[in-house]
Amino acid sequence: MRRFPCRYSGNWRIVRWPRTKRARRRYNQSLLGGIEAGGTKFVCGVGTGPGDIETIQIHTTSPEATTSAAVEFLAKRSLQAVGIASFGPVDLATGHITSTPKAGWRNYDLAGTVRRGLGVPVAFDTDVNGAALGEARWGAAQGVSDFIYLTVGTGIGGGAMVNGRMLHGLGHPEMGHIRIPHDMARDPFPGVCPFHGDCLEGLASGPAIQARWGAPAPELPPDHAAWTLEARYLALALANWMYTLSPKLILIGGGVGEQSQLFEQIRKELAGILNGYIQGCEIAAPGLGSRAGVLGALALAEQAIGQGLRP
Ligand code: ADP
Ligand code: ZN
Repeated sequence: MRRFPCRYSGNWRIVRWPRTKRARRRYNQSLLGGIEAGGTKFVCGVGTGPGDIETIQIHTTSPEATTSAAVEFLAKRSLQAVGIASFGPVDLATGHITSTPKAGWRNYDLAGTVRRGLGVPVAFDTDVNGAALGEARWGAAQGVSDFIYLTVGTGIGGGAMVNGRMLHGLGHPEMGHIRIPHDMARDPFPGVCPFHGDCLEGLASGPAIQARWGAPAPELPPDHAAWTLEARYLALALANWMYTLSPKLILIGGGVGEQSQLFEQIRKELAGILNGYIQGCEIAAPGLGSRAGVLGALALAEQAIGQGLRP
């Protein structure tokens, strides 16, 4: 056993270290790489799972500089495959980032660049689908074939596992932009979504809370009226996904999900909205916290061994 300071969390972690040459070779052959590609930082990891992952953070600058720093870190080890869980919008078929307003990243071939740089199979998905997959593999959704992972932060995004597989389609689901009833008498706030105004993200994201109440969401006390309204909007959205996707579990993460009092309020609102029509779906917090993204990328890499985009 060896003790390493985890570069990501700063905590000490203990790693099983193979003693013999043969065991080391076998260990190296099982190594996976993961990239959580975010708009402000890339978190890159090498390892086999939550108890054994070495990570670094790279500040997101130009696509070339950021990706080559990630490839340089991953190239130090011999990897079986790499998973990328990326900010969007993305084209899942080609591994490109598409119409982002982020300077220089528009139409960037992220998966192809990593694949060419490392010469290993690469799997590519959205950041939220990656996090969902991480929760399924090592977190709060282990063994659950049908669940939703929702992140409520700067934006709202959801990943759905249906019948044991992440739901894709024409592109990928955009759960944050669904319409929910907006009672203008109770809440005259017009919403902040640049595309739709008062879609779910427009009404219930962190920036929406701040714009409506005039203070950053983390500064509002737990008994503030903001949370009653937030629980109402999230419960309305959850009900729609429960009717359409039939999840057994819904995990709510992201910065706004840190407000633990929300969970009971959401359950109460949901009970009223569903009116007994559906019962038994659990609402819970994710299990992997801020590590869900990079661990999700590692879980994607596992899938790439079988079927990812190959070199
Ligand atoms: P991002 O979505 O940018 O990856 P977060 O999930 O942390 O990152 O979301 C940031 C948003 O969540 C901000 O609008 C912030 O005000 C809000 N937020 C962050 N922490 C909390 C908290 N503890 N309680 C409520 N809102 C929070
Ligand atoms: Zn929208």
